Amino acid sequence: MSSQKRSSPSNREATAESSDPETALETARRQLDRAAARLDVDDTVLERLRHPASVHEVTVPLERDDGSVEVFTGYRAQHDSVRGPFKGGLRYHPDVTRDECVGLSMWMTWKCAVMDLPFGGAKGGIVVDPKRLSDDETERLTRRFAQELRDVIGPKTDIPAPDMGTDPQTMAWLMDAYSMQEGETIPGVVTGKPPVIGGSYGREEAPGRSVAIVTRETCEYYDYPLSETTVAVQGFGSVGANAARLLADWGATVVAVSDVNGGVYDPDGIDVAAIPSHDEEPEAVTRFAAGLTEDDSPRRLSNEELLELDVDVLVPAAIGNVITADNADAIAADIVVEGANGPTTFAADTILEERGIHVIPDILANAGGVTVSYFEWLQDINRRAWALERVNEELESEMVRAWTALKDEVERADVSWRDAAYAVALERVAEAHEARGLWP
Ligand code: NAD
Repeated sequence: MSSQKRSSPSNREATAESSDPETALETARRQLDRAAARLDVDDTVLERLRHPASVHEVTVPLERDDGSVEVFTGYRAQHDSVRGPFKGGLRYHPDVTRDECVGLSMWMTWKCAVMDLPFGGAKGGIVVDPKRLSDDETERLTRRFAQELRDVIGPKTDIPAPDMGTDPQTMAWLMDAYSMQEGETIPGVVTGKPPVIGGSYGREEAPGRSVAIVTRETCEYYDYPLSETTVAVQGFGSVGANAARLLADWGATVVAVSDVNGGVYDPDGIDVAAIPSHDEEPEAVTRFAAGLTEDDSPRRLSNEELLELDVDVLVPAAIGNVITADNADAIAADIVVEGANGPTTFAADTILEERGIHVIPDILANAGGVTVSYFEWLQDINRRAWALERVNEELESEMVRAWTALKDEVERADVSWRDAAYAVALERVAEAHEARGLWP
């Protein structure tokens, strides 16, 4: 069994950072090593967790609308399945690489373990710019990708979900192609589908909802009544807009929001319900900001300025690597809740920890997405849909349960929230490996 060793926070020279953003694989390996250094985990188990169980590389030929054929590369990295089937997104993006898929699959292992879901981590994708494809081409690409992955995915083996560049429609095509080949309708092969074919209500809002729930719990814990709490949210997409609106509904004052072009700031609070989210109307924050004059309140501000606002809670919910060694000393929030995946680099994390800023890690904060994916999988297996109220109630209780387990670890081991999350996750995965043993 694993036991916790106490250790002091590592110092800055140990984490000196070049200006290059770190890759998902580098981050995942560093985090595993850091968690392992604090825990008494069997070395043979650790060695297994440093490597993915498998990485599948496939070529995906696509007939373009003009009749020409283009061949794309696709991946599916499967990290660890000791606690259950592999689970993780499929992204369509020109920067998809094998290593990125491996790193993100490791992240998914920890995220599922933090939430105590019976899944292990996976991630995959196709190296393609989806904006270059027509809808028909995207459908043909997805169906062929489903065929290429057919032997390695399935409701009991590996369950993909939407990610960057993919959406519920992509999952619908994938599910249909898989089901056609299997000869029966198998909704549980993917999650994040449209509800009409077995998708779950509440799946789309779930990551933002979980960000809001853990923000609320953390504020309560550190004695920040929501009614007196100011929040800045970077990114006004699925995660950022849903989190901002819920927090505002629950009484917090959202003083700043942004999109890719910049943001708006009003110390008296912004009516976040009045600004369309990225899905509802892309770059609506930009248009809102464009209508403001220099003397107006709210006023415009850049994404860099938003990150450095003197607020109680900062929610980076846009992209990775936005809080780095270069700006970590200027972060003025007391609490950072990671809505995006990997918004804080390893070096920045150390600086924030030294400065006493509480960082609630992504593997807890935005895990509402994979948690409602788990609910979707259960609904698919049982062929019984849950009402939205039930989804939200169960998400609430799962998030509070997971948050409480981390809070207990923070108190017990006197570590940061991120270290607590990795300790809890690694301990659960390692215990499962030790209990099952190595076969043969
Ligand atoms: P989205 O595409 O719906 O919205 C992204 C928002 O961020 C938009 O408002 C966009 O304008 C803004 N943005 C893009 N680039 C930016 C930049 N350089 N600086 C500032 N803002 C920028 O995306 P989303 O689904 O909300 O995802 C946001 C983050 O959350 C990503 O890191 C994603 O991986 C992570 N995440 C998403 C989900 C999910 O299911 N949607 C689940 C877990 C984690």
